[in-house]
Amino acid sequence: MELYSGYISRLIGELSVLPGIGNKSAQRLAFHIINMPKEKVENLANAMTEARENIKYCRECFTLTDNEICPVCKDASRDHTQIMVVENTRDMTAYEKTGKYSGVYHVLHGAINPSLGVGPNDIKLPDLIRRLQAGEVSEVIIATNSSIEGETTAMYISKLIKPTGIKVTRIASGVPVGGELENIDEITLSRALDARVEI
Ligand code: ZN
Repeated sequence: MELYSGYISRLIGELSVLPGIGNKSAQRLAFHIINMPKEKVENLANAMTEARENIKYCRECFTLTDNEICPVCKDASRDHTQIMVVENTRDMTAYEKTGKYSGVYHVLHGAINPSLGVGPNDIKLPDLIRRLQAGEVSEVIIATNSSIEGETTAMYISKLIKPTGIKVTRIASGVPVGGELENIDEITLSRALDARVEI
């Protein structure tokens, strides 16, 4: 005998594939959703479907955006000769929140991770190189996480870019080892940026 109705089991199953949601949390969310007003549930479902359908990669920096080109890349007052390389859109948002960075970004959508079979060509790294070849970039600031994968990616990018003569810097270690950028406060992030070192 099924413990729950088929519909509830299915909802729990779908929710439990989300990151950080175990079976217990999935059950809690499922019962919460079932008790929500029908209209709220429809809004939630529509928000998910529409986000998935309409969000695309910015054609310059590859962040997730509603338009062909994101507001940061579109902004002519930003310094387009300075590119900060981050692992994901959340990290970019974390730096944007500091209000201390006036350059543009490049979002990798991941980091090199040999144990998971993620190589340089599996993230938006070839796109960064193409961008550097095309434009007049004077500095690449590597702001990947200080995890093993983030450090591996930083070293790889540095070795790749060095021969081109473009300045390569790494944000300072104010960012704790293994710390994810998105969880770090704005002051620490701005300090890490100010104290960046050439690598
Ligand atoms: Zn962009």
